Amino acid sequence: MVITIPIKTRDRSEMIDVTATVQEELTKSGLQDGVCIVYVPHTTAGVTINEAADPSVAYDIQKALDNLVPWEGAYRHREGNSAAHIKSSLIGNSVTVFVESGRLNLGTWQGIFFCEFDGPRSRKLHMKFQ
Ligand code: ZN
Repeated sequence: MVITIPIKTRDRSEMIDVTATVQEELTKSGLQDGVCIVYVPHTTAGVTINEAADPSVAYDIQKALDNLVPWEGAYRHREGNSAAHIKSSLIGNSVTVFVESGRLNLGTWQGIFFCEFDGPRSRKLHMKFQ
């Protein structure tokens, strides 16, 4: 069974810490040991794991991606959001976390982030616990 939750983004670029939400769904599922797969079904968004303790890290990641892939450029894609598509591919669309004793086995400083690159939009986050 795939669990889907809605995500409402507010900015063009945004990293939203969804760790607590994923843990909540994991707890509801009753899974004790296995894997948790988090998947983003969008071409201009992504999901990543990085430091959740200091919000400056997420800010710096977004700034670095903006420098690496400027919004304006000699892109061919007519929709005008090529930068968002490129960032989505750089960041990726899924992460896998081990589940132990009903908990996401993340490192001390790690969190799971939904990454918006062409917001604000209504998005979805899929999760599967096995
Ligand atoms: Zn596009």
